Order: sequence, then structure tokens, then C-alpha cells
Amino acid sequence: MSITVMKNYINGEWVDSSTDTFGDIWNPVLGEKIASVPYGNSQDVDLAVKAAAEAYPEWRETPPLARARLLFRLKEAFEEEFEDIARVLTIEQGKAIDESRGEVRRMIENIEHATGVTTMMTGYCFEDIARGIDSSLYRQPMGVFACIAPYNFPAMVPWWFIPYALVTGNTYVLKPSEQVPMTQNRIFEVIDEVGFPEGVINMVNGSRDVVNGILDHPDVQGVSFVGSTPTAQYIYERCGATGKRVQSLGGAKNIVAIMPDANVEAGMPSLITSFFGCAGQRCLSGSILAPVGEGADAFIEKFVASTKAMKVGNGLDETTAMGPVVSKAHQERVLSYIEKGLEEGADLILDGRNFTVDGYPEGFFVGPTIFDNVTPDMTIAKEEIFGPVVSIVRSKTLDDVIELINTRDFANAACIYTQNAKAVREMRYKAAPGMIGVNIGIAAPMSFFPFGGSGNSMFGDIKGHGREIFQFFTDTKVLIERYF
Ligand code: NAD
Repeated sequence: MSITVMKNYINGEWVDSSTDTFGDIWNPVLGEKIASVPYGNSQDVDLAVKAAAEAYPEWRETPPLARARLLFRLKEAFEEEFEDIARVLTIEQGKAIDESRGEVRRMIENIEHATGVTTMMTGYCFEDIARGIDSSLYRQPMGVFACIAPYNFPAMVPWWFIPYALVTGNTYVLKPSEQVPMTQNRIFEVIDEVGFPEGVINMVNGSRDVVNGILDHPDVQGVSFVGSTPTAQYIYERCGATGKRVQSLGGAKNIVAIMPDANVEAGMPSLITSFFGCAGQRCLSGSILAPVGEGADAFIEKFVASTKAMKVGNGLDETTAMGPVVSKAHQERVLSYIEKGLEEGADLILDGRNFTVDGYPEGFFVGPTIFDNVTPDMTIAKEEIFGPVVSIVRSKTLDDVIELINTRDFANAACIYTQNAKAVREMRYKAAPGMIGVNIGIAAPMSFFPFGGSGNSMFGDIKGHGREIFQFFTDTKVLIERYF
């Protein structure tokens, strides 16, 4: 059987990479190789950036409304291919099909928000800043921008940026995650059918060499990165050194507080999704569960029972709640954290090791895993595991939980389950993370709010999507004028 090799999309055409190094793409539920991806190089990047730079002047002069109309057409085309994109996503990434659908929906919502360019890109003006002198501010696009994407949301994450970059008049180069490039490949087939002007949007497959090619390229004005914290920091520093704009979103260690007055019954489905949805591979996944006060035993009993009732299996099966993790290497990494938790003395009350699913003996599964009596200094309470592993840290007061949150190395998201407004205010006011959920297990901002954490979860100041992203993709020009 011949294996499909991913191509790059440059200047409106599908082209082969010039590399001779390739990586495998896996179906994680079958544990089978399904395609191959070129680990491209700086020559590939240069071709794509050149195409984007050449397309820029004409695209910039295209009125924003005309650019938005093209995005409307793209949205319609994505709606038509919605189910197919979601299926490709589940096949290469492993998540449950409904989660893939949710992800594709969120991707499209960013296009919808971006089409508001006529209000979001406006400047402002002021008469008589001095006698007879007026001043005005314009927002202008800057040229070529690029995105470097992670593996856990292969459809959505690049589209936190692309529609805004394009609608404001910039041109673009995307590097998808080399672990899951098939989803964007499918998305670019749709882009190709809709017919953007050549060179306006390009895609280069690859790994570190492509990233470094982007970071070093003098014609790339800015980079949007999403991935793990060490890479996020590296990207941020390199962009600083080469004078590029950068927004660099990193890893997470999210804590979910359960207050004594929480409506546990109503909240349980969202708690289960928080910790186990996407097999724990979300930057917003709950990782530490912190029940507060006396009722912890009863709560934990219910949480464990609900976890056991969850169906783990093939993401394409509509009844599956949790699929495998993305790769064999990641499965081994998550399992090593479970061993670490045991070594450091946490109580393993639900063991996801040696987990098998009927019909999928080679799948990269890690079963739902719960540790009780975890202490803040244990490795499993400090590092990002990025798998279906829950660390329960029993806490006496909300202040203890906030202290726990604010002493982690990450500050992406935190959640609180309570009916008490004072407790909510305390959390909002004192907790460091940039995204807070109240009786919500995954505090995911919609496209019209900014997405991003604080501290080591976010390098830069302008986050993903939201109103402010229009500023990331435009520079200001101020005019001061008088006439004699
Ligand atoms: P990753 O950092 O390994 O890879 C992300 C991208 O960077 C990939 O495209 C990869 O090719 C590239 N890359 C990796 N190492 C590199 C290196 N040394 N030099 C240059 N480029 C490199 O991240 P991942 O494993 O793909 O994604 C999971 C991580 O992403 C988790 O830490 C998760 O929390 C984070 N994430 C964060 C957010 C957020 O909003 N903050 C959203 C999604 C994912």
C-alpha cells in the first residue's frame, strides 16, 4: 500500500518539500502509520515567505470588505466540509469525534469574528490637538506573518490567528504540528477550492528546521506560537533577538477548586470533560483537583464513580468520551509520570496503566488515572503531564487553593465550583491565571475574547484572538496635520 506524503502549499499550488527527511503520521487508536510528513527546511520556508511577500502589496490594497467577503466564502466552504475535517482530525489526533466537531466549530467562529474588520480595524482622530492642527491614527497591515502550531488542536489553533492576519491585509505562512498535519492539509484543500489570490496563504510542513527558518527570515514580521513552555520561551527570545512581533502561548498546570457548597451533581459532567476530554491533552484541561473542606471524601467517591462510567475507545465511535493519547512516545511519557507519582508516595486510587480497549490492542491508550493525597511539592503536582491523570490535592481553605495555583510554574487557567459569589471574587481577584472558569471545567474564551494565560503560560502581551488581536496584526500610523 502506498503511503500519502504531505505536500506544502505555496503560491496557490501543492508542491513537494525539498527535504529528504520524513516523519511518520500515526493513527493513535490503531497504532498504525497512515501517512508521511516532510521535515522541511529553510529553503521551503524561503519559497513560502517569498510568495507571501510578493502577494502582499496587492492583498494590502484589496479593500478590507472584499477580504472579509472571501472569508465569508471560506466559512461557507468549511461548513460544507465540516464533518470531513472533524473526521480527519479524530483519525490523526485520536480525540472523540464530538470534541473534533467542537474544535472545528471554534475554528469557524474565528472567521466569523474576523469579518468584523470594518469596526475592529478602525483608527481614531482628534481635531485641534493644538490651534488649527488635527491628528488621526490609521491601522496598517505589516507584511508576512507566520504561525507555529501544537498537536493537540490541529484544526482550531492556527485559526486563532490566520483569519485576523488575512482580513487586516497581511499574508501568511503556517507550519502545522508535524504530528498531525493531515487536518490542515484537508483545510488547505478547501482554501484551494475557494481560491485565495496566489501566495496570500501558504503552508510549510516540518519540524525544528522550518521553525528556525521562520524565526530567522528577515521578511517575516511576526510570529504566533502555541505549544509547550520551553518552546514558547525559545520562540519568544528568538523573535525578540530578530525584532519580530511575537505572541507565544505555552503549557499549563490547571487547578480546579471544589468548594463545600458546590453543586456537584450538576457540575460533574463538565468536571469529567475537564480532566479526561481530549485524553487530558488540552492546555485548559484540569490537572489538579482541589476539594476544599470536610466534604472531600464524598466528592471524591462520586468523581471516581463518574470517571469509571466514562467510555474509553475509538474517537470515531459516537459513544466514546475519551480516546487514546497522540503517540507511543507520549503514552510512555504519561505512564512515566504515573510511576513518579507512586514513587513520591501519592495514593493511586484509579490505575490507568496497562489499559486495553477491545478491538484496539495497539492503541496508544492511557486509562483514566486518579491520585489522592498529592502534596504540592510532588512532581505530579508541579509538571505538565498532558494526559488523563488527576492529582487530588485536598485543601482546607480557598486561600490554600489560591496559594497552590499561584505557586505553580504555569498560570494558564483555573476553575472554581461554588455557588458563593465571595469565593468567586476571591478567585478572580487573586489567582494568577489569565482564564478563570466558574462552574465551568474548561475556561475557553470565545473568539471575541482573548485566549491566553499569564506567567510561563504566555510570553508576549497580545493573546490569541479577541479584540486585541487586530492590534497584533496592524501597526499604527499617526498623522499630525495643519494647512496654511
Ligand atoms: P511543542 O512545543 O512540542 O511543539 C509545538 C510546535 O513547536 C510544533 O510545531 C513543533 O514542531 C515546534 N517545536 C517543538 N520543539 C521545538 C524546538 N525545540 N525548536 C523549534 N521548534 C520546536 O508542543 P506540542 O507537544 O505540540 O503541544 C502541546 C503543548 O502545547 C502543551 O504544553 C500545551 O499546554 C500547549 N498548548 C498551549 C495552548 C495555550 O493556549 N497556551 C494551547 C494548546 C496547546
